[in-house]
Amino acid sequence: MSDATAADLHHILDSQRAAFLQDGPPDLKQRRTDLRRLKAEILKRRTEIVRALKTDFGQRSERESAIVELIPLVQSINYMIAHLGCWMKPERRHVSAYFQCGRAWVVRQPVGVVGIIAPWNYPVSLALVPLATAIAAGNRAMLKPSEFTPATSAVIGEIVQAIFPPERISVVTGGGDVGAAFSALPFDHILFTGSTAVGKKVAEAAARNLTPVTLELGGKSPVVIAPGFSMQRVADRVAFGKLTNAGQTCIAPDYVLVHENDRDAFATAYQDAVKKQHPGGYVGSPDYTAILNAHHYGRLSGLIDHAEAQGARVIRLGSDSATDHILAPVLLLDVTPQMAVMQEEIFGPVLPVLTYRTVEEAIAFINARPRPLALYYFGGNRAERDWVLKNTVSGNVTVNGTLMHYVQDDLPFGGVGDSGIGAYHGKEGFMALTHARGVYRQGRFNAATLLQPPFGRLADTITNLILR
Ligand code: NAD
Repeated sequence: MSDATAADLHHILDSQRAAFLQDGPPDLKQRRTDLRRLKAEILKRRTEIVRALKTDFGQRSERESAIVELIPLVQSINYMIAHLGCWMKPERRHVSAYFQCGRAWVVRQPVGVVGIIAPWNYPVSLALVPLATAIAAGNRAMLKPSEFTPATSAVIGEIVQAIFPPERISVVTGGGDVGAAFSALPFDHILFTGSTAVGKKVAEAAARNLTPVTLELGGKSPVVIAPGFSMQRVADRVAFGKLTNAGQTCIAPDYVLVHENDRDAFATAYQDAVKKQHPGGYVGSPDYTAILNAHHYGRLSGLIDHAEAQGARVIRLGSDSATDHILAPVLLLDVTPQMAVMQEEIFGPVLPVLTYRTVEEAIAFINARPRPLALYYFGGNRAERDWVLKNTVSGNVTVNGTLMHYVQDDLPFGGVGDSGIGAYHGKEGFMALTHARGVYRQGRFNAATLLQPPFGRLADTITNLILR
């Protein structure tokens, strides 16, 4: 596919908007049929998708791709099919005593045409879950996948082309310049997934058209381990969260805050957990994924080197391959907040460990930094857990685990502050991409009609009654 030009983008948007106005919003049956066709086409091309991901990453675990890209995608489509009827029902609202005989309700209206911009790290699910959500909400959509996963983008384009005409759904390709032109289009909503830096640009461009945005961004998601908690359980789950897709996950645990007395126990348990999950090493492994490209491999190596130069203890848990961008897991001890690895989202299999003396100190550390996309708390004391949750703000939380809030279809998924604006998944996705239109039907009689000119004594009495 060749890159879209500004003229192409405008033409597609105009034709989608005209078709939306002409055909009107699709009914429940149509939306369910479209979602089922999308799911069937994804399943039909399962092998093709997994191969394309492998081509784009060089080494990407086929099983992991099926588990972390396709299962959440298919599950979320199933969930939408099952609950859409309920979400689409008009919702009756309260009418005050003075307006009795009238009726009020809310209808969730499709907004029109939604622009979707996707990143490279989970290029299938982060393009197609937003697309399925736009379809469930009754919209038309234009989708721009990442330029860094061309093979996967081509398959996504074929999936969409096989089932939808371009005036319904369209996939356009290109890099940052196309992204900039795309986000300047007067869409009815933009759903962007990517970095905080680019998210700010998208928000700026959208503001010029007063286009509402949902921004799914990144950041540093901390893990807080309560003093004395079982380190083996923590280490297994942190290793799983950190090493899935080699740490190239927006909600990957970025760094660990552990009590100073437990630091060594955690470090030992983490090394054991990593070895247990990847007994065969990393280069050429069917279960481990490469870093996307030389740029990110170099960036991660730079973070490790900088930390080491600043006095961190670097524990490398396997051998790497610079040629194939394969970076084995790395544990960093004696880390300080000033190190570069603590200044930016890591997005790789590098785990810095910081220590605290009191849980309050750990929470103050988190609260002094931008609000994270995810927060992970491990602990067995309910009062302390509640205190931590009450005194922190993050997009989402998983307690005693990592990543798993993402696959709860009935939970909103999104960030807060620097990690994002708005949320999607399940019902919240449907709400984000529809307009809540309040409708009031006035009854034949109501007290309000007595408050019209010419005003008399009765109007005074009613006014005084209301303003008691
Ligand atoms: P990115 O921001 O560099 O790119 C994302 C998309 O934006 C790409 O399609 C790109 O072409 C496009 N783009 C680039 N410049 C643009 C511009 N000026 N205007 C509009 N679009 C533009 O992000 P990335 O490197 O692909 O992905 C990694 C980042 O995404 C990480 O920060 C990660 O945490 C975040 N992320 C967030 C989520 C989430 O759900 N919150 C999920 C995955 C990734």
